[in-house]
Amino acid sequence: MADTPIARNIAARWDDARHGERSVAQPPIVVIQGGANGDLPARRARSETHATALIHHLPVPVLQLDPTSLWALLSGSKARGDAEHFLTAGISQAGLFVSDANEMAVSLLQASSCDDLQGPASYLFALSPQTGRRLMRAWFEGTKLFSEVMKMRSFKGAMLDVKLSVTFPSAESPEPLLIVLTDITDRRQPGEREADPLHTARLSMLGRLATSIAHEVNQPLAAIVTDCETARLHLSRDEPNITKLKEIAARMAASAHRASEIVKHVRGMASGQATIRKPLDLNEIIGDALSFVRHETDMHAIRISAACTPGLSAFLGDRIQMQQVVVNLLLNAIEAVVSSGKRPRRIEIATSASGQRIHFSVRDSGDGISAVDLGRIFDCFYTTKQDGVGVGLSICQSIILDHGGDISAANHNGGGALFSVSLPVAATETDR
Ligand code: ADP
Repeated sequence: MADTPIARNIAARWDDARHGERSVAQPPIVVIQGGANGDLPARRARSETHATALIHHLPVPVLQLDPTSLWALLSGSKARGDAEHFLTAGISQAGLFVSDANEMAVSLLQASSCDDLQGPASYLFALSPQTGRRLMRAWFEGTKLFSEVMKMRSFKGAMLDVKLSVTFPSAESPEPLLIVLTDITDRRQPGEREADPLHTARLSMLGRLATSIAHEVNQPLAAIVTDCETARLHLSRDEPNITKLKEIAARMAASAHRASEIVKHVRGMASGQATIRKPLDLNEIIGDALSFVRHETDMHAIRISAACTPGLSAFLGDRIQMQQVVVNLLLNAIEAVVSSGKRPRRIEIATSASGQRIHFSVRDSGDGISAVDLGRIFDCFYTTKQDGVGVGLSICQSIILDHGGDISAANHNGGGALFSVSLPVAATETDR
């Protein structure tokens, strides 16, 4: 699955929401931009642009931090094995530097404008310096997730209890990182503010949507980067293959369009528009998803066979969400076949119908799923991968359940994992 720090942190929010921690106040998210390699300024710039666009549309408070000096500090301290320097200098000497914030962060922290929040991030830890140190230590030690409840004071002096959750980027990743601050002040002082169930439900839905967006936006952006690199290689040849270049340009446009669709989607949700369900053709959704992951399957020489039953009844759904489901299942299948080391590498996808339901399945030629994992893989944050996050299947399950369908995982008799999804067909005029 696509795995970005944004995805991981928004997922953390979602997980909190699922566990009832966000039933009250607006949870803030802090974004730290992170990049380890000096040769990645362009990627970082893209990430920053993307993160900046994203934070201003997220329905939660977000701060964005400039990572430049922090990364230098981290690599220098690591090289010297000097954790102490990183722990103290990282926070006190503006290693964590807030470069941007959205309106919701301004509001939660009772600042007068975003300008108040910009600058050294030390104010976040003013009342809880030990949390800041533990956060920096976790980062230094290569921990993936950090979460702790701490006290903060708003700019107008109000005392806040917040749960701070951070997911750190991998050493190679120049992508943004989010710090999630869940406001649990209300939970600690019951009755002070009333939770609005409709608002809570909407936040939870938006959190889920944001999680999905973060996952999906990463995938088309990665595809665009790969295509750019391929195009540059073609252009550096004496006689560039114009037909190929046209193909690549078209693919890049399609990926960019898709990323923009996803962002539009969250913007619509953030402004309160309900998700519009339309009659969809399952085979078309499968075709879209296959084209989105074509880079990955080509790159890993995976043979894809699609056995799509023609003439399936339409189902009512959200196109982008359904594409996400199929893309996430395919990305997992790709990872499974590659990591198994087995040949030939194969993924089979099939659609069918029975009664008033339509079905699709994704089978791969990987190692399959162990009995222990089978019972847990749909749990949020359950992962068996070293760099996994464990939210992809959880997102898939939520989307499918939301569409009135079901999803299950099994091992195929012939080997490999088999994921099966079924959905109710749309009611026809005569049914209504
Ligand atoms: P992640 O990919 O980050 O681990 P997911 O929620 O997508 O998160 O998957 C959870 C876990 O389910 C994986 O870590 C893996 O153990 C298992 N899994 C998912 N898809 C497959 C597959 N196609 N083959 C084997 N195991 C799988």
